Amino acid sequence: MTSADAVAFAAAFNALRVVFPLRADKAEVEHLQRLYFRALSRFPIERVEIAVETLTASGTRFPKPAEWVRAVPLDGSRGLRPLDDSEAAEHRAALATFYQGDPCYCVLCQHAGVTHRMRRYVPMRDDDGSEVRGLLDGRPVTRGYWAHGVELREYYEARDAFASLSARSAGRTPRASSVVPRAEQLSRPA
Ligand SMILES: [Zn+2]
Repeated sequence: MTSADAVAFAAAFNALRVVFPLRADKAEVEHLQRLYFRALSRFPIERVEIAVETLTASGTRFPKPAEWVRAVPLDGSRGLRPLDDSEAAEHRAALATFYQGDPCYCVLCQHAGVTHRMRRYVPMRDDDGSEVRGLLDGRPVTRGYWAHGVELREYYEARDAFASLSARSAGRTPRASSVVPRAEQLSRPA
């Protein structure tokens, strides 16, 4: 990135803050943003933005600089398969709603007791546990799918456990807002 990418970087940084709110005042946020910019400046903005997608889909809190660096794809688009039309449409729709959707009432979700929770679009993984990537509009993306049933329940169990852990370590009891992230309210369809 160069200083010409500062605006695009600020947008990427703020996109993460929408999903993972930071407890910091305006001056602190600006300071953090400069630190993160420096930590990520050796990568092109396009790859920094792809990392935001990955972190939004799979993260549980605002990433540390090193975590953001790790999420930057090493390689460009070599060997990646383009998403087909229906996959691309699903991916774009998921992205537009911060990878969350209306609660699902399918048999799997009913059995797992998750019909009261928002659906989540989660990263697709290969047999090694690595995220599967593809090309969307010529750019590499992490491929995803909508989790249902036990998988969706486990996603929330992991995130709720993290929320109560970080609330405890901050000397607070968990509040509703730390269990239900703001993005879920934002992305609820009007
Ligand atoms: Zn379902």
